[in-house]
Amino acid sequence: MNPFSYERAADAAAAIGLAKGNAAARYLGGGTNLVDLMRETVERPEMLVDVTGLPHGIEPRADGGLLIGASATNTALAADSHVRTHYPLLARAILAGASAQIRNMATVGGNILQRTRCRYFYDTAAACNKREPGAGCDARDGFNRYHAILGASPACVATHPSDMCVALAALDATVHLDGPDGPRSIALADLHRLPGDRPDIETELKPGELIAAVEIPPLPFARRSTYRKVRDRASYAFALVSVAAALDLAEDGTVRDVRLALGGVAHKPWRASAAEAALKGRPANPESFRAAAEVELAAATGLRDNGFKIELAKRTIVAVLGDLTGDEA
Ligand SMILES: Cc1cc2nc3c(=O)[nH]c(=O)nc-3n(C[C@H](O)[C@H](O)[C@H](O)COP(=O)(O)OP(=O)(O)OC[C@H]3O[C@@H](n4cnc5c(N)ncnc54)[C@H](O)[C@@H]3O)c2cc1C
Ligand code: SF4
Repeated sequence: MNPFSYERAADAAAAIGLAKGNAAARYLGGGTNLVDLMRETVERPEMLVDVTGLPHGIEPRADGGLLIGASATNTALAADSHVRTHYPLLARAILAGASAQIRNMATVGGNILQRTRCRYFYDTAAACNKREPGAGCDARDGFNRYHAILGASPACVATHPSDMCVALAALDATVHLDGPDGPRSIALADLHRLPGDRPDIETELKPGELIAAVEIPPLPFARRSTYRKVRDRASYAFALVSVAAALDLAEDGTVRDVRLALGGVAHKPWRASAAEAALKGRPANPESFRAAAEVELAAATGLRDNGFKIELAKRTIVAVLGDLTGDEA
């Protein structure tokens, strides 16, 4: 690990001031990802600005939505009674991730900005365009079971590893940012980028910007919502494929509204907009669900080890939506 200085910021303005103009400064949440990257010398910050002193409140809004401070821990958010009642898919997604100990440390801001788990990214002896632009990509012909089937590029086939972000994408969350040029907001679905030819640029954040809060609008059909994660082990494993879904059914059994997002399939949490459009107004039955899954995965491509994820994603979509049509849902 390289030498670095450490500063703890009392609020967003102080954090932004400390990091301003220093390209080698990094904001530090719970450190569960960043410190690992520093140990591997993938990240070599000169300064860590601890932002765990930023707001961590989880506050219901007058419109029925929710405002979550960036420093709320993953544990606090999953345990919050408003979240469990009104956004059960979010609680489920968080609890499907990591371990209790890591969730106790991990913050909402850090979870959103956690880096890919591609093993070649962490191995400084491997070629990786994300770590070193132009170096190549050892994952393309290497071990790529966990890699992307949607939106990948010749330069990078990594996936975004967050479970929480998949639920936030389905929930139409907005991320409130603050930075040297002042505050602004961006849809979570637009925050992360596809790799293109610059996989090292992972988000739309500008230099020095931080995540201050996340806001979620109300989900009127929360009763029919869930998160399912398919993985190699029952716990403590990243998603091969995951699905966050919410379903609103009309009296005649057709789909009035639907939210669908996929994890483990792309460089960003994947909002399944094509499947949503294909489902609206259709009967809520396995045939419609399969047809919608086919539409969403039409452009999917597999690598040596991950082609199975295309069919897995389709079947998981069908299974999750099927669960949500039951009377007990
Ligand atoms: C063994 C293990 C298993 C895991 N399994 C899963 C899993 O199954 N599913 C899953 O979703 N996750 C999993 N994780 C990842 C874990 O969820 C993340 O490490 C955690 O959410 C990161 O949060 P943090 O607060 O510790 O971030 P940090 O490590 O502190 O920071 C991560 C990144 O975010 C930046 N950052 C932090 N806060 C802010 C802010 N407010 N504004 C701007 N930038 C900020 C940092 O600079 C850094 O780049 C696992 C991690 C480990 C170690
Ligand atoms: S998939 Fe992306 S992160 Fe992994 S080695 Fe290739 S360029 Fe690096």
